[in-house]
Amino acid sequence: MLFLSPFFDDKLDHTARPEKRTRMFSFAPTPFDLYFVLFGIPVRVNPMFWLMAAALGWSSGDIPSTVIWVWCVFFSVLIHELGHALTAEWFGWRSSILLYFGGGLAFSERYVNNTPGRSVFMSLMGPMAQFILLGLVIAVSMGLSLAEVELHPYVRTAIGYLIIINIFWPVLNLLPILPLDGGRILQGTLDVFRIRNRTTIVRGFSVILGAAVAAWCFSMGQPFGTIMFGLIAWQNASGAFDSRAY
Ligand SMILES: [Zn+2]
Repeated sequence: MLFLSPFFDDKLDHTARPEKRTRMFSFAPTPFDLYFVLFGIPVRVNPMFWLMAAALGWSSGDIPSTVIWVWCVFFSVLIHELGHALTAEWFGWRSSILLYFGGGLAFSERYVNNTPGRSVFMSLMGPMAQFILLGLVIAVSMGLSLAEVELHPYVRTAIGYLIIINIFWPVLNLLPILPLDGGRILQGTLDVFRIRNRTTIVRGFSVILGAAVAAWCFSMGQPFGTIMFGLIAWQNASGAFDSRAY
């Protein structure tokens, strides 16, 4: 299972809808899209987001658990993207969020006054937001357990899901593979130190690790992860993620 949360750094036209601002994984608006604004940041949720989250959680076999799982995925991915988007806003760059079949995307106008250090920080803040959420969930559940509060089984299910998602997801996203956050962090770090051949290094990491993760997913019987990481490795090999807009 896999959701991607890459932070795209293309030169963006912020007046356009998110799907016009990315070349990869574009997803056109539908009548079933959910729009809302959170902390001043526009968020659009494509219906495929719910379907993919439900498909990933279906293994539990019962509908209440799947519904709880989907809401936990939604909340966690939203927190992740808010980590990126609020950092961008803090740097003075308008941002927006799209949740789609591959997870979440945060868009921003970060080509203005950007530095490699800021890019690294912004890429880091998505996974960090999830680790903070993880810490809060663990602290609250430990507090409730110490106070011997009797929790509804659904609440216990939600706590369990939130812990799993907020460990697995940020760790996955920190792998040094473009276009994951870890790939962006590696790219930005090599930029900070002006390492020679840095484009080749990042691409090499992405191809080799992407193929390795795809092989691992295959051995674990995870077709979605196999296809996704296989595609990522292939796209890196062909230079699809080589845009260096900043
Ligand atoms: Zn991210």
